Amino acid sequence: MVLGAPWEGGSSYLPGTAGGPTRIREALLSPARSLATEAGADLAHEDRCRFLGDLSLANQQHGARSLQTSADEVLKRGGRLLTLGGDHSITVGLVRAFAHHFSKLTLVQIDAHPDLYEQFQGDRWSHACPMARILEEGLVDRLVQVGIRAMTPEQRALADRHAVEVVERTLWQSDGIATLGLRPPLYVSVDLDGLDPAFAPGVSHPEPGGLSTRQTIELLQELPGPIVGADLVELNPLRDPSGLTAVTAGKLVKELAARLLEVGEA
Ligand code: MN
Ligand code: MN
Repeated sequence: MVLGAPWEGGSSYLPGTAGGPTRIREALLSPARSLATEAGADLAHEDRCRFLGDLSLANQQHGARSLQTSADEVLKRGGRLLTLGGDHSITVGLVRAFAHHFSKLTLVQIDAHPDLYEQFQGDRWSHACPMARILEEGLVDRLVQVGIRAMTPEQRALADRHAVEVVERTLWQSDGIATLGLRPPLYVSVDLDGLDPAFAPGVSHPEPGGLSTRQTIELLQELPGPIVGADLVELNPLRDPSGLTAVTAGKLVKELAARLLEVGEA
């Protein structure tokens, strides 16, 4: 199930991410490309891959609660869910729902930023804070962050307090990920700014020095399954005039969706 969450209420700097789900679906479903994955699955002929459209989030105080409810409905039916953001604050409500259904969840976050601020500009629900909320609420067994290159002392202290595993640069390659001993079930949260701006410029907070598209795809392919849920966030169409970032997002969604469809006991 692929769900759109056009929520930008947690964005601290620029508007625009609410337009993300539409642009990602357009890129994904464009006749310019097929829905075949690199491993040979074809989502065009896969009944289990369904697009649920966008949630109506415009009038919500914050998106977390309605997202939790929607995710919960999918999980109660035994489905797996991939959510398209929106900004990164949507991950809190989603992971709440997953934590209710899966104990010992490992959250793998691809991001330039740790998103571990206690609050940002007075907002505890900012997209700079979701991982702090997830840790406070004890929702995951492990938080593994890949691509981080904008750590601050305040966030480092919180990461240390909660034993967050911040993957160092030498481990960005997928064979480095293998050394972490990740155990499913996994939830994967992809912030597009984890990629280098050369590959994904259309984000609100570009941070040079990041992952290549190739590294990111291989990382997603190498993670141990089952992956029970995922989100892909922070595409800002207003910063993506060429549409390259949306195409890159579509590619990552395709590869992620194929991983979610893999059968396995969670
Ligand atoms: Mn980020
Ligand atoms: Mn983020």
